[in-house]
Amino acid sequence: MQLLDTFGRVHTDLRVSLTDRCNLRCAYCMPAEGLSWLAKPELLTDDEVLRLVRVAVGLGIREVRFTGGEPLLRPGLAGIVAAVAQLRPRPEISLTTNGIGLERMAPALVAAGLDRVNVSLDTVNRETFVRLSRRDRLDDVLAGLAGVAAAGLAPVKVNAVLLRGVNDVEAVELLDYCLARGYQLRFIEAMPLDAQHAWDRSRLVAAEEIHDRLSAAFSLTPAVDRGSAPAETWLVDGGPARVGIIASVTRPFCAACDRVRLTADGQVRNCLFARTESDLRDSMRAGATDADLARRWVKAVLPKKAGHGINDPTFIQPTRPMSAIGG
Ligand code: SAM
Ligand code: SF4
Repeated sequence: MQLLDTFGRVHTDLRVSLTDRCNLRCAYCMPAEGLSWLAKPELLTDDEVLRLVRVAVGLGIREVRFTGGEPLLRPGLAGIVAAVAQLRPRPEISLTTNGIGLERMAPALVAAGLDRVNVSLDTVNRETFVRLSRRDRLDDVLAGLAGVAAAGLAPVKVNAVLLRGVNDVEAVELLDYCLARGYQLRFIEAMPLDAQHAWDRSRLVAAEEIHDRLSAAFSLTPAVDRGSAPAETWLVDGGPARVGIIASVTRPFCAACDRVRLTADGQVRNCLFARTESDLRDSMRAGATDADLARRWVKAVLPKKAGHGINDPTFIQPTRPMSAIGG
């Protein structure tokens, strides 16, 4: 059995949200206040997460990325990573994090078997950081980035989202910062996945504009064919340094998508923008066998839509925000 949809896409990349909670409130993701969290009994336990990851690996998953919310807030993270590293075939294990606390945790995560990390950093200016994330934590994020590089996880990847009128003019400065430290920067177009449903195309800084802004300061030459990787990549000033742009909205890469998602409360989603989910948690708690869970998972992936449809007039934003789905 494998995770195949009706368009022939085989899914090998699993994103696991370990919590919907976060210690930042990035404007493109969450409202400043008033977002309620999943209750603890609704969340998968560490053992339940591991069981479902094991089932997924049996279905051909080769990369497991832990995300959230903020995955470093999950107390059992290092133990989960260590247990996933024992699975055979061993999947590649990665983490997407805002970096707060990473300085302290990086050595334990690397020892547990973490292979790769993406840290989100949208600005290197403190005032912009506070405005964007509504918390004064830039120094913690920068320390987390330095900590992960010191722990030997190369290349350190940085994810950045630009918002018009907030940090769009800082793209070059951010790339300068990353180049100076050997971090690989990727810009991601803001998608309509914010909890407050305030996404607005006029605030979207599109890939083409990001490319133009960077080209004013650097010489960009297209790098390799992107395959199923969402980022289009350019060599910066002849290389070897690179910069990526993920044009999720303006140049969708759905035809090559190989991702499937598991929410912190045990729902399989075949797309970030899916309007339905398949419950594995209650089935598991009601005594489903691994074979039952695998069958449910296969069935959940099969009807995945051809594309996310953001640019269709009939598009409806999913009810669950990115922070609860796992970005
Ligand atoms: N808290 C962690 C972090 O920020 O890296 C992990 C979860 S976060 C939802 C994962 C990634 O999604 C981050 O890189 C974040 O910038 C990105 N993201 C969040 N909301 C987004 C949106 N509406 N559009 C595009 N990317 C978004
Ligand atoms: Fe938190 Fe990540 Fe969302 Fe920012 S993008 S609010 S760090 S979950």
